[in-house]
Amino acid sequence: MERTESMLAQTRPPGVADVDPGSVLLPGHDVPLGRYTTVRRLLPQRPRRMVGAWCFVDHFGPDDVAQRPGMEVPPHPHTGLQTVTWLLEGEILHRDSLGNVQPIRPGQLNVMTSGNGIAHSERSPAVHPPVMHGVQLWVALPDPARAGAADFAHHADLPRWRDGELDLTLLVGEFGGRRSPAVVHTPLVGVQLELGGEAPTTLSLRPDFEYAVLAMSGSAEAAGVGFEPGALLYLGTGRRELTVRGGSGARLLLLGGTPFEEPLVMWWNFVGRSHEEILAAREDWMAGDARFGVVADDPAPPLPAPALPTTRLKARDRTGGLHG
Ligand code: MN
Repeated sequence: MERTESMLAQTRPPGVADVDPGSVLLPGHDVPLGRYTTVRRLLPQRPRRMVGAWCFVDHFGPDDVAQRPGMEVPPHPHTGLQTVTWLLEGEILHRDSLGNVQPIRPGQLNVMTSGNGIAHSERSPAVHPPVMHGVQLWVALPDPARAGAADFAHHADLPRWRDGELDLTLLVGEFGGRRSPAVVHTPLVGVQLELGGEAPTTLSLRPDFEYAVLAMSGSAEAAGVGFEPGALLYLGTGRRELTVRGGSGARLLLLGGTPFEEPLVMWWNFVGRSHEEILAAREDWMAGDARFGVVADDPAPPLPAPALPTTRLKARDRTGGLHG
């Protein structure tokens, strides 16, 4: 997906409130994406910018796209990150500059690794299901992966199991003794929890991870806090377990990882460490440099990068603290 200029104008969302010691309910805010889609952005926020290496969380839909184009995001670049795409409903066609042309459907996972540079487009096919609903997440890459080769993987067969009232699907990392086939570069987890009944289920967590839970559909309660789609429940570190309960059919996404300590510069579709890195990425993209390659057969021209702000871009750490 593409980040828009409104990202830069992000303000602290209203109503941020501490709900119990160590957890914070963070409301998302709406951001336009491409020409036809609005997403709810849950990360980054101020002052909570990351959960582990997860540095960007967009939740879109459920949207009725029966008589509409659906998602229309033309070719655009990425650096320094992985994109993780997961659908609850609908279909999106991914095209990238490595030559991959891959439809993604519910229950499947796309993981694109930008390394030093990649370009892709994401579109609803001309004939598409009537409802679109899903998430796109970014994972910040550490050294040396962020300077490495680009990659794309489609995972149609993910670990699935039942625990108490929960049906779990493991997108990324290790959880409940299972391991996802998706390649990541820092200790990280992403697992979908689908609630089957009202009774609580307690899951084991790693105290060295920080965690957050996103409600994708239905209402639920985690760590004693009720929440609904549009909010991210940040749980912090030091927890050994998490109790989840809620309405049948509710779907949550549990995200976690070891705290990512490096300050990042995030601007448009680039994740870097300094103003100079972002400037170079922007110039390379606008010059058509081979660093990003070409997305073949996309019906639209590549997106131009927005203008850089007139002041230097500064790195921010995971809690929003400025560096440099
Ligand atoms: Mn993208």
